[in-house]
Amino acid sequence: MMAEDEKKKVVLDKSDFSNWYNDVVEVAGLCDKRYPVKGMNVWTPYGWKVMQYIDSIIRRECDSTGHGEVNFPLLIPKTEFQKEADHIKGFDSEVYWVTHGGLNELDVPLLLRPTSETAMYPIFSLWVRSHNDLPLKTYQIVNTFRYETKMTRAFIRVREIHFFEAHTCHDSFEDAERQIREDCTIMDRVARDLCIPYMLVRRPDWDKFAGAAYTIGVDTLMPSKRTLQLGSIHQYKENFSRPYDIKYEGADGEFHYCHQTTYGMSERLVGAVVGIHGDDKGIILPPKLAPIQFVIIPILAKGKIDVVRRASEELLEELKGYGFRAHLDDRDDRPGSKHYDWEIKGVPVRIEIGPRDIENKTLVLARRDLSSKRTVQRVNLKKECASILDEIEQELRKRAGDILDEGIRSVDSLDDGIALLREWDGIIRTHWCGETDCAEEMEKGLDRTFLGFPLEDYRTGELQKEPGNCMFCGRPTDTIVYLSRSY
Ligand SMILES: [Zn+2]
Repeated sequence: MMAEDEKKKVVLDKSDFSNWYNDVVEVAGLCDKRYPVKGMNVWTPYGWKVMQYIDSIIRRECDSTGHGEVNFPLLIPKTEFQKEADHIKGFDSEVYWVTHGGLNELDVPLLLRPTSETAMYPIFSLWVRSHNDLPLKTYQIVNTFRYETKMTRAFIRVREIHFFEAHTCHDSFEDAERQIREDCTIMDRVARDLCIPYMLVRRPDWDKFAGAAYTIGVDTLMPSKRTLQLGSIHQYKENFSRPYDIKYEGADGEFHYCHQTTYGMSERLVGAVVGIHGDDKGIILPPKLAPIQFVIIPILAKGKIDVVRRASEELLEELKGYGFRAHLDDRDDRPGSKHYDWEIKGVPVRIEIGPRDIENKTLVLARRDLSSKRTVQRVNLKKECASILDEIEQELRKRAGDILDEGIRSVDSLDDGIALLREWDGIIRTHWCGETDCAEEMEKGLDRTFLGFPLEDYRTGELQKEPGNCMFCGRPTDTIVYLSRSY
């Protein structure tokens, strides 16, 4: 963390998104980037609390859909890691190795999990015996490690990643498909609480997860007009159950390989919240993630100090009693300076309380998202506070949703696409015939990469289809693709 006086010198200008982002994560007190390993940051108490609230939303969703939380070891033997060929190829260049235990070289080197398929599946093969054991639905929230070679960025591209991963086993492809629909529903509810818009985009084959039959990416659009993958959902079919021997005895008395799925999300969710909602004054936290939802700032007037203090403490206790996360800022500092600090940290509502408010039995609630103020009757505190948090959520969702809607444009020909991109930046939606040559030409011409095929409806998994012509070769096709620049 920066020293207080250093923080106050930082000028936040979101029109320069990259620098704004790098500064705001630190001045808002979310992380400390001074740890002496590249791509590994320290979670500070405030930032870790935000992450913990996100984790608890994910836990709520997984627990209520019958997933069991597990916690597997961090180290994976090289011998297990090597069992699925595509998976190794996909992760080989990114893994950290442990080769020594004390002074002894290990017989079998161990790796730090980049993801936990190869840790879990040898054990799943022991857990799954009969069709009665299925579906097996598990998840864990742990740290994973990937040796990123691209430029690192707090929460968005790091080498130690706070990671959620769900792993499931099923008795059929159809049941695994049902799981993927459920994962999409979970994503929808998580995104709702984070007030973040997202797209479900099936990745092209060349960009699917190492070992997957297919991958659905969960993407959002950052203010820099680059897409950010927030999560991914994978259908494995039998690709892992065969090498890891995860079999069950069916009702027919025969052994069958399981169909498997995974669903992953990470601390990038924090990055998206910061990037999408924040402004030149700092971050703005959606109420469900805010460690402090209401901050009380006493306005201490001469002769009324004790009265104001007592009223502030009573207000704090009352808010806590209603289940709100409230904080009383009784530091010996000017109200204006306190105001500034809480603005940077994105606290949704500020309540300044002075002698006049006490006399009038009113309170002034100031919203961080709109910089607007509202006077409410003290007696209606609970109702007013609940509704203001609700309104803030709606406003954040609407604003963020508008940015995404405005960030996607349909284009028919490559020339039109190139012309459009001279004056506008965002996601290009167009047709593609399925030929990789055309894909390459489109990517080159637009200076974007294939994000993939947008889903029409997450409840069915159907892709968007529309009659048209391939952007490059003009052949008729109904396949819709998105192209973007991404993180
Ligand atoms: Zn084509």
